[in-house]
Amino acid sequence: MKIDIRNLSEDQIIDFFKEKGFDSYRGRQVYEWIWKKSSHSFDEMTNLSKDLRLMLDTHFVINHIEVDKIQKSSDGTIKNAVKLFDDYTVESVLIPTEDRTTACVSSQVGCSLDCNFCATAKLKRMRNLNPDEIYDQVVTINNQSLKYFNRSLSNIVFMGMGEPLMNYNNLIKSIEKISSDKGLNISQKRIVVSTSGIPKMIKKLADEDLRVNLALSLHSAIEETRNLIMPFSKKFSLEEIKDSLTYWYAKTKRKVTFEYIVWKDINDSIEHISALIKYCKSIPSKVNLIEYNSIGDENFKSASENMINLYKDLLEKNKITVTVRRSRGKDIDAACGQLANK
Ligand code: SAH
Repeated sequence: MKIDIRNLSEDQIIDFFKEKGFDSYRGRQVYEWIWKKSSHSFDEMTNLSKDLRLMLDTHFVINHIEVDKIQKSSDGTIKNAVKLFDDYTVESVLIPTEDRTTACVSSQVGCSLDCNFCATAKLKRMRNLNPDEIYDQVVTINNQSLKYFNRSLSNIVFMGMGEPLMNYNNLIKSIEKISSDKGLNISQKRIVVSTSGIPKMIKKLADEDLRVNLALSLHSAIEETRNLIMPFSKKFSLEEIKDSLTYWYAKTKRKVTFEYIVWKDINDSIEHISALIKYCKSIPSKVNLIEYNSIGDENFKSASENMINLYKDLLEKNKITVTVRRSRGKDIDAACGQLANK
């Protein structure tokens, strides 16, 4: 079996060359090809002799993603269905705004969580993505941003398929590669990791020497409601989550962003707004109100515009920073929670 060369560290590649009697700079050249230049074939490595390239070919493969299908929304959003080396498919989305391009990337094939309002949750979790598979999604979207919008990618959000904190090691490795000057050199400050809230892993992330931002899918600050719409969260009380976020802030000095969808008859009441305000006041945080994207389930309907505005007003009156995330790419099922390999 050939080894996937992107599983090796730079030192391991250098050692390989040294063992074969070559100079160590050959290893550095190859490492630059597979990461910085995101090359997917040894043939492209033109500063290596043909013999060297053939030699690499006999020992290694470069597994990589392949864009299978591209869909473009009327609002400029682009959804990619990307095929993995073992034929699984995930989706990654390019979201353009006036002045930025955001890549929304997947971290797992399917998802093991059971949020009732999310289309990805209906897919079984098949496996974790490798660091290179996450990296490749970012490269793909960066190239599309250059091609269609004449600018580089500016932001990355781990809000595609899967729960990033349940693919922790590969998440960290991918962030390191994305932000390294030997990789894409994108600032960690421009990366958001979105989690449904796994306290132990939030603390672990806080302990890393990283500068990424954290978003937490809260959706309700009332325990019973949250447990109803996100059944897995019964395992983690809001109190435990609060505790982990307090730790996060103490360690990083970066506020968490609460992602919060407002639904009709679920959390569209003063009682829910008050609970959210109280929760926010106990943790350095901001709120991102998210427009609900239908996944065809009758139990979930977006709250009225008035209700969303009421949330916004009351949060602001309580000095909590709040933004409203309008839905993008709905016509191609590329919006939050709609990724389901349709
Ligand atoms: N598992 C991670 C990341 C993926 S979901 C997490 O839960 O945070 C990214 C965001 O989209 C989350 O805030 C999620 O709650 C939200 N989302 C899921 N389904 C949605 C839908 N149908 N409409 C709008 N947002 C949705």
